[in-house]
Amino acid sequence: MTTALDEAQRLCFDTVQVFTKNQQQWAAKPLDPAMVSDWNARVATLGWGDRMVSHASYLINLATHQDELWRKSIDLMTDEIERCETLGIRYLVHHPGSFVGHTLDAGIARIADAYRELFNRTRGYQTVSCLEDTAGGGSTIGGPFEDLARLRSMIIDKTGEPPRIAYCLDSCHMHAFGHDLSTRQAAEEALDHFHATCGIENLRVFHLNDSKGVVGSRLDRHAHIGEGTIGAPNLAASGFAAIVNHPVVARIPKILETPKENRADGVPWDIINRARLVSLQSGEDPEALVGVWTASHPVTAAKVATPKSSMPKPIKPVGTAKSTKSEVEAKPATKPAIKAANKPSKRTKAAPARTSTTRGTDAAPSAGASSKSSRPAPRSSAKPAKSPRTSGARKIDSSRRATRRG
Ligand SMILES: [Zn+2]
Repeated sequence: MTTALDEAQRLCFDTVQVFTKNQQQWAAKPLDPAMVSDWNARVATLGWGDRMVSHASYLINLATHQDELWRKSIDLMTDEIERCETLGIRYLVHHPGSFVGHTLDAGIARIADAYRELFNRTRGYQTVSCLEDTAGGGSTIGGPFEDLARLRSMIIDKTGEPPRIAYCLDSCHMHAFGHDLSTRQAAEEALDHFHATCGIENLRVFHLNDSKGVVGSRLDRHAHIGEGTIGAPNLAASGFAAIVNHPVVARIPKILETPKENRADGVPWDIINRARLVSLQSGEDPEALVGVWTASHPVTAAKVATPKSSMPKPIKPVGTAKSTKSEVEAKPATKPAIKAANKPSKRTKAAPARTSTTRGTDAAPSAGASSKSSRPAPRSSAKPAKSPRTSGARKIDSSRRATRRG
């Protein structure tokens, strides 16, 4: 758990999304008190307490009509809420569930009944449960915003606790379900639709992922920002520009649930994904932003164990240090020498097992960001590199185990 904080800091993010237990197992060891106190002390120092996120186990299905699974799901969800409360994690994201074998209406009612018990067991807790939209495959609940809105209002009817139940949106899921995010205008319309049905003031977390599946494919496969069907054609004109510059979205924690791996030049994809999103807010060149990071965090191009004949052209490593060990002492690179940039490499190096999150501008959004529809398109990438730390309040971060979709 605390390693996630280290990694988020190293990557210059300012929040994390974590699993507080093994997300593939029903059983969970109690939290170790020493870890909890270490965690709490670290979080207090970092000042991230108001924006950390946990993702609930994938085993939980509060919508099921199989009683045994439903009971187990409620018990595990109770544990998830208690863990978040102990760790001061404000937001607990979960997928609403699947109504397989029954109807959508029955599934929604089942989740609301589960919440009555969950909130009875956890009276007075601060952790906010966030219903995540889904790609809508099979009998999964949460593709249409109308269903999410109906679910939340039924939960409120049964619990009387509106502040404890909110939403998380996932850009990959939105797009895959059929809320087109491939253009800025379409994304603005999708966010307007969300506001009209769910109320954007109830949105607490945004998962920023590009999508391998096309719009409406219902395929839940995350891609790096700018490498999928949302951002690849033209990132600056894509829905990501509308999302990161939306005045509400700009202030909430944003999580990257993209693969935790390095590009062929050794740069963590989290850094590239963040740079691309920040560039949509600031108009800076994303590779220049990447260069700012590599100047103080030298990277080494991965040594790929490929037969000589098929070896790719060597890529000039970014930074000057041969080893990544002494990041502080290493001389900063003068210029990032990234050319072979945009292709996702094969996973070449064991990436840290967690996902990053993006938090956009949490302080004052940059000029123009207060009006989501009137903000001009970002300037082209002409500006010289400038430290992201000095150019406003944009920060990103987080962490969660990799490999799984969220
Ligand atoms: Zn997600």
